[in-house]
This record gives sequence, structure tokens and C-alpha cells, in this order.
Amino acid sequence: MTEAAPQVPYTTNNHGVPVESDAHSLTVGPNGPILLQDHYLIEKMAQFNRERVPERVVHAKGSGAYGVFEVTNDVSQFTKADLFQPGRRTDMLARFSTVAGELGSPDTWRDPRGFALKFYTEHGNYDLVGNNTPIFFVRDPSKFQDFIRSQKRRPDNALRDNDMQWDFWTLSPESAHMVTWLMGDRGVPKTWRHMNGYGSHTYMWINGGGEKFWIKYHIKTDQGIEFLTQAEADETAGADADVHRRDLYRAIATGDTPSWTMYVQVMPFDDAPDYRFNPFDLTKVWPHGDYPLIEVGRMTLDKNPDDHFVHIEQAAFEPSNLVPGIGPSPDKMLLGRLFSYPDTHRYRIGPNYAQLPPNRPRSQVNSYAKDGPMRYEPARTGRPYAPNSYGGPAADVERFGEPAGWQTAGEMVREAYKLHREDDDWGQAGTLVRNVLDDEARERLVSNVGGHLLNGVSRPVLDRALQYWRNIDKDLGDRIAGRVDGG
Ligand code: NDP
Repeated sequence: MTEAAPQVPYTTNNHGVPVESDAHSLTVGPNGPILLQDHYLIEKMAQFNRERVPERVVHAKGSGAYGVFEVTNDVSQFTKADLFQPGRRTDMLARFSTVAGELGSPDTWRDPRGFALKFYTEHGNYDLVGNNTPIFFVRDPSKFQDFIRSQKRRPDNALRDNDMQWDFWTLSPESAHMVTWLMGDRGVPKTWRHMNGYGSHTYMWINGGGEKFWIKYHIKTDQGIEFLTQAEADETAGADADVHRRDLYRAIATGDTPSWTMYVQVMPFDDAPDYRFNPFDLTKVWPHGDYPLIEVGRMTLDKNPDDHFVHIEQAAFEPSNLVPGIGPSPDKMLLGRLFSYPDTHRYRIGPNYAQLPPNRPRSQVNSYAKDGPMRYEPARTGRPYAPNSYGGPAADVERFGEPAGWQTAGEMVREAYKLHREDDDWGQAGTLVRNVLDDEARERLVSNVGGHLLNGVSRPVLDRALQYWRNIDKDLGDRIAGRVDGG
């Protein structure tokens, strides 16, 4: 018996019409000109020219997977958000990334990692767009663009530049905590599976009785924290630039599904005004001793995307996707991000990005949005306005009318920096160096910083950098100075 040949589907163009050839253009004689009526060839060339969307300005290089979030503890006393109710399982998507590198840049460059989560809840998408750090470099969105430009490439020579980075950091002392973190072991995780995620900002939770709380998210790896030394990271960058992407895909494909346990710190709403420092300052953590971790649930990533571009490149995370039971806080960086994320998605992948597979809510969408480029879902109603008497949606004020907010009033000022004058920028960085790192970790920190400063940082930026480290910890700063100046 002869084996039946496998059924190979016939090629069509994008419109389903069978094509005549996969490989040969239509020409006038074998040596003649290519004909304009070879519309399949023209479709191939034109489609190819349009295969890319602009890469993300930040977090360009990354990857991710689908999974599920399961609640393991009862936190309903703090939030009514449906995804955090006891026993609930919610489908989700996660994307991990570096920040400053472009698409194609090595996964093991020293950088914070994005840790972006999208939960497909009963009340729409909840996006928790965090990092692998509980803090950040700046506390006002007005400095974000400047910060990122100092980390990316110079306009004149198109090179990244350590001098530029330290110039910005040393002129922005609020960066000290985050820079200490970045230059330490956690600045290059061994894989994405071996790092924690943090919501970083303070958020609001609201329970069923309308009571409000301030919270911070901690999403701890169940695989354990592991990192690469600078030498290992440099070597890996050359050997396999995609090592983190490869690792996550392989782990999930072979059933070695990674998981993380989510915790929150909960601050009673009325503690905020009298807390010993500004609890909405993104450059600071809340010490565990003040607000211990409370377990919430576990997220497991178990499904690789079948098309990276469709599900990961087009994934659009935005901190403004907050569901009932969760709200923002006065953290100015968070308030800035509420605008900038959806804005960049509209530019990068178009105004109808919410209809794309990774972004489409799994719950009902009853919005009045209509039209715009690449829209393919029909408008929710033929009478696209509210109020209307033709069966169009109406806001359910009874159920969803309470704003997740706080009380405030005052003159319009640019004086946020005056709010907590007693807060300092060096203290928590110093605590990390002295109380959390051990001798070996401190030595690696000295070596990492020394190596970075010796790579193109000129005086007087270098002098400012040494003073910056002495402000964090005098002994550490002296050791770095010894490394840099040789004595
Ligand atoms: P704790 O001793 O209770 O917490 C220290 C925490 O530091 C650990 O629980 C761990 O958190 C984290 N950590 C351990 N090793 C490292 C490392 N090499 N690099 C960075 N972080 C590490 O003290 P406090 O809560 O009072 O915090 C002290 C300092 O610890 C802070 O100033 C901050 O720099 C750092 N830290 C604090 C966090 C917080 O939310 N309180 C969170 C992370 C760091 P984890 O399990 O989250 O990794």
C-alpha cells in the first residue's frame, strides 16, 4: 500500500483567491518586464513593506504568555474587584520586557524589566502595568521623557552614553534608590521566570461597603530569585540575545509552567496624611515592618502565543484600565501614565487597538465608540449617542457610579516638591545597601558601578556620581571612588 500524500492547502491571496504560483512572477516572455496585473506579487511586496508597527518608545523588546490568576486568600474586606474575590479564576496575559533597548537588543542588558499584566475580568480588562522593581527613577511625569532620553541613544552619534545617564541621575537625586537597585544583582535577572513583579505605584482598593484603602502589589516568583553577574550578562548578550524570550517559551512549551504569588500591602485610607513619608512617592517602598504582605493569589503562565506579533507586539497595557473596586492614587507618575499609555497605543497600533485579540475584553463591551481606521466590530447600536431611547446602553449609576477618588482642593501650583520636605532621597537606598545586601552583593554592586562609571563618564559628572554614592552610603561611595580613581 502506498501512503496517502498529506493534504497541503492551496495558497490564496489575502482575499481567498487561489494563486497561480508561489515563486514565479508574471512576465512578458522569460526575460520580459514584470506585469502590473500580477496582483499577487504586488500584494506580497506591498504587505511586506507594511509588516512593522512602530516599536514601543520604551519596553520595545519583550515577550509574554497567557495564563490564569487564581485567588488563594479572602481579601474581599479590602476590595470588591471581581478578580480578587474568593475562589475566582481569571484568564490573563503577561508581557515581560527590558526598558531602554530596542527590538532585537539583548535581553541581558542591565535595565529594569517590565512586568505588565492584563486580567480579563467580568467588568472589563484590568491592567497592572508594573516593573520588576518596587520603585522608579523619578516621581513627576514631567521628568519621564527627559529620563528616558538620557538612557536611550544620543541624537548626534546614535550611541547610548553612560555620561548622559549619570548626568541625569546625579542631577536627579530622587533616582538614588532605583539606581542602587538597578546596579545591584536584581539589575539583570537570570530569566523572567526568576524575578519578582511589583505594581510599584500606590493604588486604591474599595470594598463592597465603599471603604477605601491604599495598597501596593508584590508579585513574587515561585521559581526563586536568580540573577546574572555582569560578566555572565555580557557573555550571554553575545551568545544569545534572546535568552529570556527563549527561556519563557521553552518552559511553557515543555510544561514547566512558571508561577508567581501575588501579595498586597494595605494601608488604611486615613493613615496616608500622617505617614512618616509621602506614601504616594514612587521612589519609596513601604517598609514591610509597617505594612506586612497579605497573600492574594497565584498567577500561572501556561499558554504560549501562537503568533508573537498578534498577541504580544499588539498587546496594549494601560494603567488606566482600572475595574470597579480598584482606583488610582495621588502618585503623580501614575496619574501621568493614565494618559500616556492609551495615547501611545492609539499612535502605535491605531485607535481601534482595543478590538485586537490580546486587548479585546472577554466581558461585554457596550461603548458608544464607532468608526476609525481598521475598525471591524460594528457599532454597539445604530443610534450612537447617550442618552437615547432606542435601547442604547445607559450608565448604571447605582452599581458603578461611585468615583474611586479622594478629596482635594487648592490653588493651581507647581509645588509638589514642597509637600514632604522632610523626606530624603538617600535613606531607603542606604537601607538597601546596609541592611539588605550581604558582603558579596555589596562587592558586586561596587564592581558594577565602578565598571559603568569607567565606561565613558567624564568629569565633573564623575565627581558628582562619587558624591551621589557617598550620600547613599559613605563607605560604599569611598569603595567605588577607590575603584574608579585607583585609590
Ligand atoms: P525588609 O527586610 O522587610 O525587606 C527587604 C526586602 O528586600 C526583602 O524582603 C526582599 O523583598 C528585598 N531584597 C532582598 N534582596 C534584595 C536585593 N539584592 N536587591 C533588592 N531587594 C532585595 O525591609 P524593609 O521593608 O524595611 O525594606 C528595606 C529595603 O529593602 C528598602 O529600602 C528597599 O530598598 C528594599 N526592598 C523593600 C521592599 C518593600 O516593599 N518594603 C521590597 C523590595 C525591596 P522581595 O521579596 O520583594 O524581593
